[in-house]
This record gives sequence, structure tokens and C-alpha cells, in this order.
Amino acid sequence: MPELPDLTVYVEALRTRVLGRSLVGIRLGNPFVLRTVTPAPTDFAGGCVVGVRRLGKRMVLACEGELFAAIHLMILGRLHWRPPEARLAGRNALAAFDFPDGTLILTESGTKRRAGVHLLRGEAALRELDRGGLEVLEADLAAFAAALRRENHTLKRALTDPRLLAGIGNAYSDEILHRARLSPLQLTHNLDDTEVETLYRCCRAVLTEWTGRLRAEAANGFPEHVTAFREGMAVHGRYSKPCLICGSPVQRLAYAENEANYCATCQTGGRLLADRALSRLLRDDWPRSLVELEEQRAAHREIVRGSG
Ligand SMILES: [Zn+2]
Repeated sequence: MPELPDLTVYVEALRTRVLGRSLVGIRLGNPFVLRTVTPAPTDFAGGCVVGVRRLGKRMVLACEGELFAAIHLMILGRLHWRPPEARLAGRNALAAFDFPDGTLILTESGTKRRAGVHLLRGEAALRELDRGGLEVLEADLAAFAAALRRENHTLKRALTDPRLLAGIGNAYSDEILHRARLSPLQLTHNLDDTEVETLYRCCRAVLTEWTGRLRAEAANGFPEHVTAFREGMAVHGRYSKPCLICGSPVQRLAYAENEANYCATCQTGGRLLADRALSRLLRDDWPRSLVELEEQRAAHREIVRGSG
């Protein structure tokens, strides 16, 4: 899923192309991509784009008259910049935003249709899409600590929970936790102040560094190679390959359609998180989600406590 660094570079590329230009019209390649009834796509025709910004993991085009087009790319949605009046070719082309100098096209590969567009009128309607997560690059340490500790979750889940922190997903949470040398299954309420500060510093460093790398890679062109797996990542997408810091094989923790990657040497004191007692309890049946994983671990602790 495109995360804060990818989305920031999309925002910058779009600003240079559409800010101050008039949106000629919106075309839909698949009617289901549109998640709202009013305002209609035709209401946007002829209006000027007055802002381009990111809201959590959404891209927002702000148009005259307090009209907003909010695009959620989900996992496989991507944006492309094409010549004016570009055709919506193929079943993956979901929507086109036409401008005098070019066409912004939303595509989604794969068979599942998850990416979506909300067309909204008024800031209040846009705010309803805000999941409320803290913007780590704009927040101080105290605000970060408060958000992180608001609930007791595994670090993997807390970092990727859009209600707690904005713009961080599976890829960059792996990289942040590796940088901070913290286990993805460490619970937020178990962190001491030093660990919270380390995590805060690493969140900002990893997101800032990667935004810079992706910006340099796009080199003022439109970012066409958005992927969750990047050359130069320390652990994410590198299962069984050597950790870039210590050379130990990168481990994985599978859940839902994702996997978390971590280095046991750097992050868990050499311990594999699929520990034998847990595996036996689960009968090698991995949880479908991190929520479920946390519940199972809690249940496991109860069993251990009860039998001891
Ligand atoms: Zn390592």
C-alpha cells in the first residue's frame, strides 16, 4: 500500500501539474470506484484545483467551491500521468481526471476492487474521512508518546493503525521497527520512555529518508514505480535474505495478506517470534489479523499462567 513517502511524492508531482489548472472533467472506468452519490462528477467540471494534499493514506484534490476528490489507493491502486484525453484502457483503469495539459489516471491491478474515490462538498465532509491518526513528521515527542500509549497494542499494529498514526503501513513499519531495534510484537504499554523516544526518532528518520530517496528517484517526473518493496530496505520484503545491518536472515510473521519482516538478531535478542509453544498452541495456524494474533497471545499467556 502506498504510504507516507510514496504519497508525499505523488502530492508533489501533482502540485506541479494540476495546481491552479482547471479540472476539465472526471471519467469513470468502473462505476463502483465512486463511493459517494453527491456531488456528481459533473459538478467538478471547469473548476480550478486550489490544493493537493494527503489525508492519512488518501490523496485529496481540492477544487473551487469547496469540492474535494479523495482517492484511496488501498494496496494495488496507483496514479499515472498521461497525455490529455488519455483513454481509460483495460479493466484496471478505474477513473480519469482530465486537465488541459494531461490526464491523471487511477488504476488498480489484481482482481479485487478496493481503491475508491470519494467526491465531497465542504471541509466538514472531508474531515469525516480523517481517521484521526497523528502526523508523525508534524508532531512532537509528547504527542507521539500519547498517541502510541493511548491503547495497548503490539508495535506492529500501533504503527499501522490509522486511528493512532497517519500514513504508516506494512512496509515502513517494518523498516521503522528494525531501525529502532524493537520487536514487532512488543506491546506499547511495555515500552519505557527511552524506547518511545527511539521509536519517535526512527519513525521520523525512516519516513524522511525514504521520502527523499523516492523524490530523487522520481527526479521531477511522475512517480510511476510505486511499490512496497524497495531496493535498500533493511528488512521489508527481504524474507530469508540477509539483514542489511547484521547479515542474519530476515524472518517473517505472516498475517492477513501481509507479512511482517524483522531481524531476530537486531530486534528480538535472537528469538524467533513463532516460538514453539505459540506454534503448538496455534497448530501452525497463523492468525488472520494482528488483532486476532494479540488475542491469541493473550489467551496463551492465560493458559501458561493457569498451568503454572
Ligand atoms: Zn539484523
